[in-house]
Parts: sequence; C-alpha cells; structure tokens
Amino acid sequence: MKVLKKILSFFKGDKGSGKAGDSKKANSRGENRKSPGKGGRAVRSGSNKTRPDTGSANVRGSAAKPRRGAICDGSGAERKREASKQGRISRKKASKIVPQLPPEEELAGRTSEFAALGLKPCVLAAVAKQGYSSPTEIQKLAIPIVLEGSDVVGTAQTGTGKTAAFALPVVQKLLLDAPYEPAKPRSPKVLVLSPTRELAAQTAQAFEKFSEFTPVEVLLVQGGVSMNPQIDALEGGVDVVVATPGRLLDHIRQRNINLKSVRYLILDEVDRMFDMGFIEDVSNIIRYCSTERQTLFFSATMPDAVMKLSRWALKNPKNAGVGIAHSPADTIEHFVYPVDAIQKYDLLLALLKTLDFNSTIIFTRTRRDADRIAEWIEANKACSCTVLHSDKTQRERDAALKAFKEGRVKVLVATDIASRGLDISNITYVINYNVPEQPEDYVHRIGRTGRANAEGRAITLFSSDETSFLDRIESFIERPIERRVLEGFAYRSDPLFDARKSVPAHRKRRNH
Ligand code: AMP
Repeated sequence: MKVLKKILSFFKGDKGSGKAGDSKKANSRGENRKSPGKGGRAVRSGSNKTRPDTGSANVRGSAAKPRRGAICDGSGAERKREASKQGRISRKKASKIVPQLPPEEELAGRTSEFAALGLKPCVLAAVAKQGYSSPTEIQKLAIPIVLEGSDVVGTAQTGTGKTAAFALPVVQKLLLDAPYEPAKPRSPKVLVLSPTRELAAQTAQAFEKFSEFTPVEVLLVQGGVSMNPQIDALEGGVDVVVATPGRLLDHIRQRNINLKSVRYLILDEVDRMFDMGFIEDVSNIIRYCSTERQTLFFSATMPDAVMKLSRWALKNPKNAGVGIAHSPADTIEHFVYPVDAIQKYDLLLALLKTLDFNSTIIFTRTRRDADRIAEWIEANKACSCTVLHSDKTQRERDAALKAFKEGRVKVLVATDIASRGLDISNITYVINYNVPEQPEDYVHRIGRTGRANAEGRAITLFSSDETSFLDRIESFIERPIERRVLEGFAYRSDPLFDARKSVPAHRKRRNH
C-alpha cells in the first residue's frame, strides 16, 4: 500500500503537497496554489522530449489526464495503447501555478490607462509585468469592443500591439463573464488561427504571458512536430489553443479536438492565410466551430477577399482600424538601391560590410536564394548568419530563430515565412534581396524593423527587371521610395539611370 501511494504521488509530480484535481480549485482571483512539483509550471517532460525547443517552454504540453471515455477511432486506440505502454499518458494533469496578484493600489498606479478600457486586475497584473505604461492605438480601439462582446474586424500595422489587443480582453472574459471552469478534454474555449508556425508560437507565448495571473491554460498546436504531445495536452483540457490551420485540421479529423466549445475565435493575419492558400482550410475550421461565438479578425491589410470572408463568418462586426493599413510605420526609413541583377550579391556583401548593425533580416523570394545568400555571406566571412525557410525542419527553424533572437548570429536570411507578425526586437535593418512581388509583402517585411515605435531601416535591392513590382509597391503605399547609391561600390552601370527609368506612374502624374 505504501509503495502504491509513493507511485501515485510520483505521477502527480507531488512532493507531498499537490493534490490531483488541483486545477478544479483554480479561481479568477488568482489565488496562490501549491506547486505540483519541481520547476513549478506544468510542462511535461516526457512528451516534450519529442518537441524541439521552440523557445516556448511555458506554453503547455502538460501532463494528460488518463482518459476515461471511449477512444475516438481505431488509430487513436492503437496510439493510446502504444502511448500507455510508454507510460506517456498515465500521469494526472498537473495544475497551473497562479502567482499572487500584486496589491490593487500598486496596479492602479501602473496600469490606470488599461483599467480605463475595462480591464481588471487578473490581466492588469500581466500588463504591469510586461512594463506597458499606456495602451497602443489598436488596443484602445479593440479592447472595449471585445469586452462588450461584439465581433471585431481589426486592421493594424505590424508591431502595433495587436496580440495584446485581442488576448487581454479574451483572457479576462474567460475568467469573469461566467464562473471559471477548467476546460473539458479536447474542448478548448478559445481558438487562435495563425498562418505560420513561428507566429503561432509567438502568439501562444503572448497568451501565456497575458494569462499568467489566471488559471487559463494555453496550448500551441503547430505542424512540423510530433502530434502526440499535443494530443495528450488536448486530452488534459486546455482553455486556449493557438494553431496553424493544417495541423489543426489533422487533429479535427482524428477527433482529438472538438471545436463546438469554442466561444472566442481569433483569426490573426487573415490576409496572409489567404495568400498562403489556407482559405478553404480556414473556412472549414470556422464551420467546425460553434455558431455561439465571438469572432475577431485581425490583419495588417484587409483585401476584398478577406472582407468577403468576414461578412460570412462575423456577426455585425465593429471596425477597429488603425492608420492606413497600406503603409509601413512612420518610424521606418526605407530606401531602394538600384543595381544590375548580376551585381546584387556583391552589393549585398558591400552593404553588410558598410552598415553599422546588430541584427539584420535579409528577405529572399525563394528558398534557394536564401540558401545561396547564406553560403555567400559565410564564404566571404561577412558576418555570422543563419537561414529560415519552409524546407528546413521545424527543429532547424526554431534553432535559427532562437540564435537570431538571442543575438548569437547577426543576420537571418529568410523567405516570406518570417515576414508576418514575428516580434523580434531591435532589428537594425531589413534588406530585401529581391523586390517583393506582392506590395503587401513589402509592408510586412519592412515591418520587422521599427516595431513598437522603435526606429528602423529597410533597404531594397532593385534591378531593372523588377520595375513593375516596384511600381506596384509605390502605388500601394502611395509614395515614391527614395533611391540611394552606395558610395565607393564599383557599379557596372549608372545605378541612378535605372532609378530614373523606374519612376512610378503615380509620381510621374504628380510631377506634371
Ligand atoms: P504585436 O504587434 O502584438 O506583435 O506587438 C509588438 C510588440 O509590442 C511586442 O513586443 C509587444 O510586447 C509590444 N507591446 C504590445 N503592447 C504594448 C504596449 N501597450 N506598450 C508597449 N509595448 C507593447
């Protein structure tokens, strides 16, 4: 009997204090609860072994509850038996440790502008911890609308605090609109769809931060990693699922998740999901969700196709638009460096050697270009660099991003996979090796610098065969982009001759 007790205690991750089912005791006042074991937070070790380090250790893949009900389908049963054999699912879900809220007077002083939007201490504590002193424009507009329960179509430039604009009020509503109940197995209450794995990981981390002082549990469901830890965590019950569409559909088909309990559906970077061909997947996912839900659309740009979807998926949405969705942030200086196509590699190298920077992202149109440029930079010992594109494994993608974020490499060479929403602070330069074909991509790419009102710089290498793309960008942002020449670079032909040739149509009109 003693031995049995010891074993049970071990599986609970218990050092003598935590009780199974602690999560049921969670309450919205954020009361302290006892640690379920070493490391505090409920992050599974067993299941996480198969998951590469996404830099999101706090986002749950926590121990699953043993499943009592029927197993969904044959393959699931087989998987369960296998998992059971490996001891993966025999543990109780560890409960989240909710820190004590700071004293109300302290919060009131530090977060009064957020409190004025209707936010309560359960999320204000997280706002204070992030050090935000006043809300951004999109937060001022969107937070009250989300709190009142209306659907939202939100447009905001990249880096303007969109994630907090939807995450803060949604976390609060989970806690305060009705008594908080821990999520049932496979039945999340919030679903966030993100176009790329990197953005999904970042959004899941943000949700985790904003719900730190609440019992709300967050799970990242992204492709490129094993499904099993995700299945186990879904079994254990999570409140918020942040997912990429493809992997989520796999889980839906295998009945690992049921979206009928989703009360808040958030579609982030919707236009990008369209560009990436996810339109059908996204529509199907929306159909799986309950119709009794609040739906929030967020995107930097809102093309007609997205508006069409919003009319179908949203009920009487209110607009929360900030600035001109077509323009890059005012804090970003951006230039074009005209050059013969054949000299682009050399000009890039010369720029890297001339510019004073800590971190730079170089965007390329193709994965092959990204690999070649990285090889070229390394071969010429210009600076340390790494590569991010969709041919890389998830492990390689995570490692590249981590090394860049931590400043261990100065240059990240990436395809448009990195152009949306990624929040990497202090990027000195964005360099477009090619002029982006889609004007929206230009705005998103250069939005990687100059985030959260910081100053940023962006450079586009432009050869005459890209004139039509550059014209479209200048029409899209409704202003010409200054042409520059790199002093001391041995141009094969007069670069400003190319520049003169490419004066865009709308500028010609204005000059008359
Ligand atoms: P996002 O647009 O959500 O990717 O956010 C861009 C960056 O702005 C992130 O680093 C956030 O932590 C930061 N941020 C969001 N809201 C605020 C705020 N109110 N004050 C200062 N920084 C913020």
